[in-house]
Amino acid sequence: MAKKAVRVRFAPAPTGRLHVGGARTALFNDLFARRHKGAFILRVEDTDAARSSEEYYRSIIEALTWLGLEWDEGPEAGGKHGPYRQSQRRDIYAEYLDKLKEGGRAYECFCTPEELEERRRDARDAGEAPRYDGRCANLSPRERERLARQGLKPCLRFRLDEGADLAFDDLVRGRVEIKAGDLDDFVVARPDGSPTYNFVCAVDDATMAISHVIRGEDHISNTPRQLAVYRALAFEPPVFAHLPLLLGPDRSRLSKRHGAKAVLEYRDEGYVPEAFVNFLALLGWSYDDERELFSLKELRKYFSLARVAKKGAVFDVDKLKWMNGVYLRRLSVGDLFERARPWLEKAGLVGAEDDEKAELAARALALEHEKIKTLGEAPELIAFFFAERVEYDEPAQENLLKLPGGAAILRDVAEACAALEDFSAEALERTVREFAQEKKISAGKIIHAMRAALSGRAVGPSLFDMAALLGQERVVKRLMKAASAYKR
Ligand code: GLU
Repeated sequence: MAKKAVRVRFAPAPTGRLHVGGARTALFNDLFARRHKGAFILRVEDTDAARSSEEYYRSIIEALTWLGLEWDEGPEAGGKHGPYRQSQRRDIYAEYLDKLKEGGRAYECFCTPEELEERRRDARDAGEAPRYDGRCANLSPRERERLARQGLKPCLRFRLDEGADLAFDDLVRGRVEIKAGDLDDFVVARPDGSPTYNFVCAVDDATMAISHVIRGEDHISNTPRQLAVYRALAFEPPVFAHLPLLLGPDRSRLSKRHGAKAVLEYRDEGYVPEAFVNFLALLGWSYDDERELFSLKELRKYFSLARVAKKGAVFDVDKLKWMNGVYLRRLSVGDLFERARPWLEKAGLVGAEDDEKAELAARALALEHEKIKTLGEAPELIAFFFAERVEYDEPAQENLLKLPGGAAILRDVAEACAALEDFSAEALERTVREFAQEKKISAGKIIHAMRAALSGRAVGPSLFDMAALLGQERVVKRLMKAASAYKR
């Protein structure tokens, strides 16, 4: 038998922004498709008109695009299994709902939400799993008519048969079995006729010829319902792979309080997509037990579901930060500056056309290249180069005070700096060290005080490089200013 072509899909609902979990699912689908030379389909699950919005839809597309994922079929891409937005597939669902009804696999249920809620409560009180008791399953046409005449609008329920699959083989989890009690005659269409998720998902996956459904573990309990729909409509079911839950470092389910945000928020904070994608890939997947750094291209070559773990994957924001720093260090100074530019412009440090300031910013960033972790940190790291007045933070103030005879020393250093003809980092360093020896003061103390005077901070790049970049005039001025700040 010819092997079925690999076709996978990512199926977000535009009822919110794309978060880390969704992004991980999208990425794994992309990787699996590329690895197997298959197709990656984007399907927008926007049947819930009240909660879906065009704005969320746009922001999901924007986030996927930022990550560098490319779908072969879907909105904006087209394809022969479209339309790819569920809101445009109503006719297809109506056709298959009719098929279910004709085959006796769906029935009208007139139970009201209040009645259902009451029965659910009773079941819970009795310690049982709430499930539909099937009381409308065998209504006679006459009874149905009577109920309809009372003005009750029925929903449509799926009629489970004896042979419903309670188990399936999952490529990540192995054999998955659910309890018979967890499955009941579920709703396939609401009283207003709109079809529900489990039904449309199965119809779409089948009619879009999806071969593998790769999605979050939270959907495991839906799988038997979807399998039941496949069977009833004589569709061949896909293979399932449920990805492990995302956890916070405390191993509880990942949430906002663990620092998990929408993907575009990470972009806005200055994470680069190369790092973000690499980080996402390791949320549940590993190559071996060591290597951690992969480009998207490499991931597309190496990814395999066989190396996706069952146990929950811990989302660690510190690791993301570290990884982002690794990717930023790999950039050339010019690239780093260009990528940081929007943040620098927003902070007012660099104008859109200001070449002089841009040059200073690029060289200042080069000095912070080893340290910077996100592009969003750029303005804060280099703001002191541009400042009219240096503000001393507390550790800087302490370093100024720790220099014995500080005011006089800084004034002398300022003079020595002013006298330099060659204002290079090397010449500065020589001057400061000779000066320290002459005055019998530790060079370290002078250096710390100078750093405080020049940058207002106690930590930063090499003092002499930083001073050379600031330039003679600013250095002398800042040293004099600091000298005059000592209390007499
Ligand atoms: N719209 C569903 C979700 O966003 C899709 C689930 C699935 O992949 O089947 O969770």
